[in-house]
Amino acid sequence: MDIPVLHRLALNESPYPPLPSVREAMERAVAQAHRYPQFHPDDLTERIAAWCRLSPDRVAVGSGSVGVALQLFQAVVRPADTVVYAWRTFDAYPLLAAMAGARPVPVPLSPDGSQDLGALLTALDHHTRVVVLCNPHNPTGSLVTAEELSAFLRQVPRHITVLLDEAYVEFARGADLPDTPALLDAHPNLLALRTFSKAYGLAALRVGYGIGSPDLVERIRRQQLPFGINAVATAAVRASLRAEGELRRRVDTVVAERERLRDELVSLGWRVCPGHANSVWLASPDPVDAGVAALTEAGVQARHYPGEGLRLTVGDRNANDTVLTALAGVRAHRSASRT
Ligand code: PMP
Repeated sequence: MDIPVLHRLALNESPYPPLPSVREAMERAVAQAHRYPQFHPDDLTERIAAWCRLSPDRVAVGSGSVGVALQLFQAVVRPADTVVYAWRTFDAYPLLAAMAGARPVPVPLSPDGSQDLGALLTALDHHTRVVVLCNPHNPTGSLVTAEELSAFLRQVPRHITVLLDEAYVEFARGADLPDTPALLDAHPNLLALRTFSKAYGLAALRVGYGIGSPDLVERIRRQQLPFGINAVATAAVRASLRAEGELRRRVDTVVAERERLRDELVSLGWRVCPGHANSVWLASPDPVDAGVAALTEAGVQARHYPGEGLRLTVGDRNANDTVLTALAGVRAHRSASRT
């Protein structure tokens, strides 16, 4: 018999449905669904740029951040080019590279789950067109600090675009976080990707954006599908920007729950490295397979990477308690079987 899924913790989604004000804005837009959205999403781009305190020519909006990434690849990749990224990472990168006709070049993560910046730099050659960094990293949640990022950017040749995927940046805390907008002037080959799917909880609506130099942004915009950003999504993003305080408090709750999950998992005997996204990462030699089985049994859907680890999205308190109970059971069972 199939066990029902009670908690969806496999896709790093927000545990919260849209705020009432965001729903109302969406409903008003639904009532106008017989009208086209803007041919190019200029109004939305201006709003996002103002909110990021950037000029609009530094912002490209797309169908999720994954859509902006594809536009970038389509804009810069030529036949026989390669795209270099740390692997494991977000599953879309090899697919997007292939869609744009590039050869993917995966570089193994360091044993601690961080991106091996030295190995990534070594992998760059005259075929490389794009190098992807994910910060915080998916799936391990590791962080590239401000100092590490600056050193990395200084060593990447200018003809290679650095795609800095910051889908989870709102969940990262600490003094050593990069200030990406401040790096754009010195690095015109840098494009940072951000999204309304994660911290802002609008994953179904597919709005992301890239920030970079006006020249790169212009090239990315040329790949934008006309009428490509739908009006309901636009209304939801605009309302979310107005509700930023409330949404930030939700993010703070997720961050507090992430830290609680980690602390409690560590006290149960799991080895969990500090994570900076809306997820926690369990890797071997911890009993990951037994963990997945116990979670499935408890109705928790997590993301299992067989032979590598287990990524658990931080859910609401109830979901996280269910996770803790299931994973405590695995530890208790193992210590009992050792005695
Ligand atoms: N980047 C990373 C690192 C992700 O994990 C994800 C989604 N899981 C995305 C991008 C895609 O986000 P979006 O919904 O904005 O396309």
